[in-house]
Amino acid sequence: MRQVMKAMVLKKITSLDKNRSPLELVELPIPIPNEQEVLVKVSACGVCHTELDELEGRTPPSKFPIILGHQIVGRVEKSGPHAGRFKTGDRVGIAWIHSACGKCKFCRSGMENLCNDFKATGRDADGGYAEFTTVSEHYAYKIPEVFSDAEAAPLLCAGAIGYRSLRLTGINDGDNLGLTGFGASGHLVLKMAQHQYPNTNVFVFSRTATEQHFAKDLGAIWAGSSEERSPEKLHAIIDTTPAWRPIVEALKNLEHGGRLVINAIRKEEADKDALIALDYQHELWMEKEIKSVANITRRDVEEFLQLAALIPIKPELQEYRLEDANTALLELKERKIRGAKVLRVG
Ligand SMILES: [Zn+2]
Ligand SMILES: [Zn+2]
Repeated sequence: MRQVMKAMVLKKITSLDKNRSPLELVELPIPIPNEQEVLVKVSACGVCHTELDELEGRTPPSKFPIILGHQIVGRVEKSGPHAGRFKTGDRVGIAWIHSACGKCKFCRSGMENLCNDFKATGRDADGGYAEFTTVSEHYAYKIPEVFSDAEAAPLLCAGAIGYRSLRLTGINDGDNLGLTGFGASGHLVLKMAQHQYPNTNVFVFSRTATEQHFAKDLGAIWAGSSEERSPEKLHAIIDTTPAWRPIVEALKNLEHGGRLVINAIRKEEADKDALIALDYQHELWMEKEIKSVANITRRDVEEFLQLAALIPIKPELQEYRLEDANTALLELKERKIRGAKVLRVG
């Protein structure tokens, strides 16, 4: 077997505006799976907005150099001495959760996403912008057969976190649901909501007329800008924007006792003063709730993959070579988006 692999590594925090090639192509030793780990030969790895947050320091990696990437699909190449869950050649996926302690009160109650020792793939452990990677066999997932490697990759983040957001809304079938922002995650949530809550009407708030038309084509009952009032009050709204103003606007559309779920790992600072304009009496009082989504659990990933296979959800793809990871990141930053971006590794 080969001893070295190609990898795109990040050596320090940088800014994409100044440094348009933040990742460096290097050769590294192929990692050796320890105890309960599997060595995975990466075939596809999704490119996520969170990678921009990592390399620009909003959620900085805990080690350097680091291999980014947390939407990984590949095949088991080798198992560690005490790993027996998969066979060589099995197709597996790896998501944002690389490990959690397994012992704390959060881990023991199904909230491993909140563990103080939560380790993220591609931030605290090397990820999928490389030909090989390792992970504990307990944090790898079987990929349903209906998906190709590249199709499955983006589902492991945008899809699975969208699923968690939808779960956290606590809505019942028939309740009105709002979506603020209509990117990769938003449109997957719309498809999931239609499947799981067939009598629920979905209202979409987004910036562009194109996205609003797209939302209606996909079955949203109403679509408008985030400053508009929805024709009916909403029981829950999922926000996937990077900004603050849409949140204040969303609260105006919430039903009494409704819940706003913020699905964002970090918010940008630019329009933070919008929060000062919040009118407590009209916008937050009446037992409205705001809840954030943090990380992901293995249960979310597993349940979502099954659901996605059933619906089925197949993302639009834009593929790049591993060596072109910088181009993919730059285009994501500049919002040149035609479907989910995926690196074709092997
Ligand atoms: Zn992600
Ligand atoms: Zn824990």
